[in-house]
Amino acid sequence: MRLRELGEFRFIKEVSKGFRYDDDQGIIKGIGDDASVTVIDERRYLLATTDTLMEGVHFSLDYTSPFVLGRKSVAVSLSDIAAMGGVPRYLLLSIGIPDREGIDMGFMRLFYKGVKEMADSYDVRLVGGNTSYSKDKLFISGTMIGEVEKDRVVFRTGARAGDEIFVTGQLGDSALGLSLWKKKDVAPVTDPFYREAMLRHIDPVPRVREGQEIARRGLATSMIDISDGLIGDLGHILDGCNLGARIYLSQLPLSRALKRHLQEDPSAISLPLAGGEDYELLFTSDPSNGRGIKRLSEELELPITPIGEITTEVEGVVVIDVDGKPINIKERGYDHFLSVI
Ligand code: ADP
Ligand code: MG
Repeated sequence: MRLRELGEFRFIKEVSKGFRYDDDQGIIKGIGDDASVTVIDERRYLLATTDTLMEGVHFSLDYTSPFVLGRKSVAVSLSDIAAMGGVPRYLLLSIGIPDREGIDMGFMRLFYKGVKEMADSYDVRLVGGNTSYSKDKLFISGTMIGEVEKDRVVFRTGARAGDEIFVTGQLGDSALGLSLWKKKDVAPVTDPFYREAMLRHIDPVPRVREGQEIARRGLATSMIDISDGLIGDLGHILDGCNLGARIYLSQLPLSRALKRHLQEDPSAISLPLAGGEDYELLFTSDPSNGRGIKRLSEELELPITPIGEITTEVEGVVVIDVDGKPINIKERGYDHFLSVI
């Protein structure tokens, strides 16, 4: 079977079938969450996550500088540690470097400057990696190690019927930014709000402190970071739990840039619903936590917005439009082999 028929997530499921864990191996979560969770001692769990950035798939050097690429290489894994409520500690970074004009020692120095800046801002230390020649594409693979107190960890599983669904920040800017980068040569973008969305795409902000506080204050029953799009990642929260979710279009937190873009092109509503790489946190919470979440949002000076609820209807993710009717969304998120958006 071709991988494009199977899809990324069925592929991962298929692979994982061959690897079972025994109770005495200290594995709390293996494949299937934002990071693996294993036992360190009576008080703490070890978190580990790995992410690849592939030139031509995840980034293009036409619009990404080596410095921001370095930052993003660390940010994407920080985001997975954040989604567990954890503290990132150590980074291993592997690179495959093509012998091509433009990718020289000057480029790599700037790349590592970006790596260091992002790692330093979260007190993470680079402790290893691997270097290889690559035939034509630059690729980067980062492994982040972190830790979390046992009673704080938040998994993708754990949502309950009646829970409210929240997201940090704003949705869709990264996908909007990407579409603007692709058009940039045709018409240069000068609008400052549009520039902001473009920056969000190449230089995302991982919500590390936010994830830790959500976990520490016991505000989430489940949590994931939005890397593959809201509908797709909310779908992962529902995986295997016999529950559904409703989200309301009118409640989605959108930037000024996206609102303006929507006026020109209403079909862009697929960007906040299914566009990837926002790296915001999506979590479910008991409705009684509303005030605590509002307070946290004020303290962090970041919107944390209720966008819907978990239901007992087993229809996956249902999107309700401004008139209260369910709408049919074709794009449901990013899949590396199906690549719908
Ligand atoms: P994220 O988007 O949070 O990085 P993914 O959707 O990429 O997570 O992966 C989902 C789960 O599948 C994770 O637990 C990840 O470690 C695991 N996974 C992904 N690809 C592989 C693979 N090739 N082999 C084993 N596990 C994998
Ligand atoms: Mg993730």
